[in-house]
Order: sequence, then structure tokens, then C-alpha cells
Amino acid sequence: PAHLSAQPGEIRTTCAYCGVGCGVLAKPDGQGGLTVRGDPDHPANRGRLCSKGTALGETVGHEDRLLYPVIDGARADWDTALDQVADRFRETIAEHGPDSVAFYVSGQMTTEDYYVANKLMKGFFGSANIDTNSRLCMASTVAGHKRAFGTDTVPGTYEDLELADLVVLTGSNLAWCHPVLYQRIVAAKAARPEMRVVVIDPRRTATCDIADLHLAIAPGADVALFNALLSQIDRRGARDPRFARHLDGMEEALAAAHAEDVSRTGLSPAQIAAFCDMWIGTEKVVTVFSQGVNQSTSGTDKVNAILNCHLATGRIGRPGMGPFSVTGQPNAMGGREVGGLANTLACHLDIENAAHRDAVQTFWAAPAMPERPGLKAVDMFRAVEEGRIKALWIICTNPAVSMPEADRVRDAIAGCDFVVVSDITDRTDTARLAHMLLPAAGWGERDGSVTNSDRTISRQRAVLPPPGDARPDWAILAEVGRRMGWAKAFDWPDAAAVFREHAALSGVAGRFGGDFDISDHAALDAQGYAALAPFRWPTAGTRQGGRFFGDGRFFTPSGRGRMIPVSARALATETCEARPFRLNTGRIRDQWHTMTRTGRAARLNRHMGEPFVEIHPNDAARLGLAPAGLAELRGATGCAVLRVLVTDRVREGEVFAPIHWSGDTAPTGRVDALVAARTDPFSGQPESKAAAVSVAPYAAG
Ligand code: SF4
Repeated sequence: PAHLSAQPGEIRTTCAYCGVGCGVLAKPDGQGGLTVRGDPDHPANRGRLCSKGTALGETVGHEDRLLYPVIDGARADWDTALDQVADRFRETIAEHGPDSVAFYVSGQMTTEDYYVANKLMKGFFGSANIDTNSRLCMASTVAGHKRAFGTDTVPGTYEDLELADLVVLTGSNLAWCHPVLYQRIVAAKAARPEMRVVVIDPRRTATCDIADLHLAIAPGADVALFNALLSQIDRRGARDPRFARHLDGMEEALAAAHAEDVSRTGLSPAQIAAFCDMWIGTEKVVTVFSQGVNQSTSGTDKVNAILNCHLATGRIGRPGMGPFSVTGQPNAMGGREVGGLANTLACHLDIENAAHRDAVQTFWAAPAMPERPGLKAVDMFRAVEEGRIKALWIICTNPAVSMPEADRVRDAIAGCDFVVVSDITDRTDTARLAHMLLPAAGWGERDGSVTNSDRTISRQRAVLPPPGDARPDWAILAEVGRRMGWAKAFDWPDAAAVFREHAALSGVAGRFGGDFDISDHAALDAQGYAALAPFRWPTAGTRQGGRFFGDGRFFTPSGRGRMIPVSARALATETCEARPFRLNTGRIRDQWHTMTRTGRAARLNRHMGEPFVEIHPNDAARLGLAPAGLAELRGATGCAVLRVLVTDRVREGEVFAPIHWSGDTAPTGRVDALVAARTDPFSGQPESKAAAVSVAPYAAG
């Protein structure tokens, strides 16, 4: 039974960081701090935590916190600040129309925060200009899922990673980016030595330590590799004819796969054959994919290339088999559930479907509802740059560091007529550009819920009081909604009431299919919400084992799954004489995003204390780069100065640099300044893993 493991004074909550969504038992230490340990009852981690999770207690406290509203650099009170936000958004919409305003939000917000932001922008401002930093994280998976399944639904569960006989990890450094899931695979592999692991990654990452086969694929070539696999599935008679009757598009997808230029993979025929032998010869196979797949101008096609192989073989939605997207952020999935993307509606409904729009508008009693998608992240900041967005509210994220072409985004924000930033600190590069700063309650100080990568909804709970005048984001947004005249629609006494409304709306959405219906939780009173234990949707029990599509029922209009014909495309940015290196970007083990929280923990900073670039020994020697010296990297849109880490984990001609550092913590450690803002045509996700750069010794001054 749940709740037996908590000791007196311990409060059940969920980790602030990655999409694994580990349960945490947190206990105030009586001096404003916290002790934490993994929650033995939480299904995601069963007591485990990684280095970031165990350091959560070191990231709370008042130091560097934003404690009160600030307007044009001067302290203000909430009434003045909220009135001004309401006035500026009202006036801007009246003068320039609803599409002249935008929210840029975050996968670290709670579902309740996301719900209120989405309701305010879409139903009451009448614009779909709300997008999220999850656009940089898993938008290609959303688009790929919708093309294949009809909805954005993750078919499997975490247990499948342990039940599989073959786990394929592609574009996913699970050991550092989803460490507890990695630990679960390591434990399963130790218990069942017959279990095998394949890692597909241009770089030899820490995840390769458990790989039976590492395929150092050419950057961006995943479509070619999975088309090669699909072609072999067909040639070797490994298709599942029984499952094929549930599918459309098989012949077209096979034709594209057979026509693929496999040499694009950069792998030898023997390596490809070894991979195909393992994949085709193992029924229980899970293919895990993450940012190496998503962050690409072919991201959606890569996702569908993977899904095609699982659909063709019927290896989906059954124990130990299926494609599995792991989300980067703690609530990327919750954001998807409430429609926190510019091209989605609440509860997995479609913004471009009139019946869906009507249902949501009626439920909200909303005065407006956009009929077309809003601006996705990259386009949103272009619109800011061009002066088309005149009022921008940035919540819980730091786009001046994390967006591609970060210098340009920084300048665009600086030039915007009115910028509000809600955050826990005023020390981010983005906060420095704001006209108004609003102090937000952070992790451990607010109530809410989050959804992890396997659809498990867990509570985040307040363990400490918010410092100073800080408030939860949903409450700040709701107050602005009330001050703009929508008192009834934004009148919630607490986060529990927001969750109830969200759950009730999911029941309405259930009429349209999709199985995201958690309305059986809508009756929760505040007490029930306070005690809410983790639960995974679907909750109705119509799907065996909480998995999807193994029964051949999909959410497309025809009810059949779709195989999508895809072909490998060239990377968006070519290397050239001036910029001959291919820059791969990513995370390191002990930091999170732009370090707003993890940078506060001394022991996390000890792992890798400054921005660096991994470069092959031959390249370093040729360029005269000394180990631990400084290198200057230049792209078409910016530059960065990074410590040299010479290693054969990267190949010649390729370099890797982490994304975490800001402009003010190193000479210029902002690696996303080097990344061109080229995006996937379906998902709008930028290509963050294949920039073209020059590398040279850095000459200070
Ligand atoms: Fe937190 Fe992710 Fe680590 Fe779990 S694996 S403790 S959710 S950072």
C-alpha cells in the first residue's frame, strides 16, 4: 500500500528536473532548508534518485531569490504590478489585435500553471500565441505521434524497459539525462544477462557503458538507419500480417524504406546488419528516443521512421515492446495534456477541429477561441524581433540563453515594447531584459501536479513557504485574468480547484476519443487532492496494462494506425571551409537547463564546473589546442569561448558542448548562440545538434 514509507514530517512530492518524474520525500529541516530522499512508493523510481535529485535540498533558500515585484528596476507591490500587466495586455490587444501578445512558458510549470496560462491566452485573449520551451525538447515526438496514432499518446510504460530483451537507445544519453531510468535498465540487465542494449549516437556517451553495440551514426541520419531496418523487416518476412490489418500506409512506407540511401548513416554494412539481426530477431524490443531524434529539422520524420518499424512488426503496446519517447522536462507531458503548445488545444484536442474548439469554448464559457495555431517558439521570437509581438510574458524559462540564435533572441526581447518575466530569481539573462519582474514560488513552495514520460501524474507539494511575496504562477495568471474582467472564469481558491476543472474538461474531451480522460479524479476536493497518489492514464481500464495500440485500436478517424513514408534529408546547415566542424549540444549529468536551480548547489557545480567543448585529439593537435586551454567556437550567428576537453568520445570533425552556461558565468558560454534557428517543418523544433562552427585557440583581448 502507498504511503507506508514516509516518516513523520516527510512530505511526498516529485523531483523538479527531468521527465522520469521521480517521487521525493522532502522534510523541512527547521532552518529554511530541506532534506530529501527517494520515495520508495513512487512507481517511477522506487526510492532511487540521481545526483540532481539528491541535491534538491541544497537548491532552496532565499539567496538570489526574487522576493517582490519589480517595475522598471524599482520595487513594487502586487496590486500595482498586476494592474499594470492587465492594463498593458488589454490595451495591446485592443489596439493591435489578439495576435500582438504572447506567452512563452516552460515544461517546469505545473499542469495547473499551464492550464491557467492556456485558458487565458486561447479562450480569453483569443490567440494561440502560447508556446513553451518544450518546443525545444519533444515537439517532434508530438507531431510524429499525431501522424501515426491520431493523438499524442505514448504507447508504453517504464516497466517495458525492464521487460524488454532488447533496449535500443537512439539520440538519448539516458545515463546523464534520465539517470534513474538508466539505473532501472542497468538493474534489469544485471538480473537478466540475456537482455541487450544498443546505443545509437554519434558520440560515445556514458550510456555506451552498458551497450552491447554502439552505432556511431552520422549526425542526423536516424531516418536512413530506421528505413534500412524497415527494409530488412520486409525482406526477411518479419512483418506482422495480423497487425497489418490495423494499419494504413504500409506499402508507401516500405517503398520509401527500400529506396533509402543507407550510406547516409556512415555505418558499415556489417554494423547495419548486426543491428537488424538483433532488432528483427528479438520480439521484445523497446526503442527509446530523445533529443538526438527530436532536435532536428527531420525530427518528425525520424520519429515516424522509428514508429514505422514497431508498427510493421506489431511490436507496440505490449509488455516489453514499443517505441518510447522520454521527455526532457518534469512536466513536458503535462503541458501536452493541457494544450500548452501553440498548435494544440486542451486535453489532447485539436485547435483546427471546429467540434473540438466548440467543446472547449463551451466548457470554459470563453468569449473567444483561435481557429488556427499560434506562433511556435522560433517564429514567436522572430515576431518579437519584427515588432509584431508587442507584449510578451515569459514564465519560468530563460530564452535569452536557451533559444537557438540566442544573441538574436536576447536582442529581440530587449527591443519588445513590454516584457514581463515571472521567475524565482532576477539573475537570469532574460530577467535582466524585463520591464516587469514577478516573483514566482518555485519547486518545494507550490502545489500542483506533473506528468512524467510514461503518463504517470504525480503531485508536487509545497514543503516550505514561498519566500517574500512570491506566488504560484497559476495564481498570478488567474489574478491577471480577473483584473481583465473575467472574474468567474479565473476564480479558483487553490491549485486543487484548477486540477478539478482540468480533470472535468478531460471528461468532455473523452467524447472525442483519445482516452485522456481523468475525470474520475474531478470530484477530488482539496483534501483528496492533497493526498492524491501517483496514477497513470488511461484510468478507465479499457486498455490492458495501461498500454496503447497493442489491440490495434488507434485514434485516427479510420481507427487504424498510419505508417508514414519518410526519406532521409540533409542537415539544415552545411559545414564549409569557414565552419568545418559539426557542433553537437546537450546536457551534462549534474546541471539542468540554464542552471537557475542546479547552479545553487555547490556539489553539482563540482562535477563539471565551467563550459567546455569536447574535441578529438587529432583535431586538437592540428589546431594547436592544449588540453584545458580555451577555444573559441564561431557559428554564423554567434560565438562562445569554452574550456578544451580533449577526448576520443567525439569523432574527428565533430565537437560537443553543453547548453547550460549563461553569458555572465564564463567569457561567453552561451552555446545556443551558435545554433541556427532552422526548424522541422511539422514540429517547429530547431536543429540543436548539428550546427556548423569554426574552432580556434582563444586569444584573450
Ligand atoms: Fe530527478 Fe530525473 Fe534524477 Fe529522477 S532521474 S531524480 S526525476 S533528475
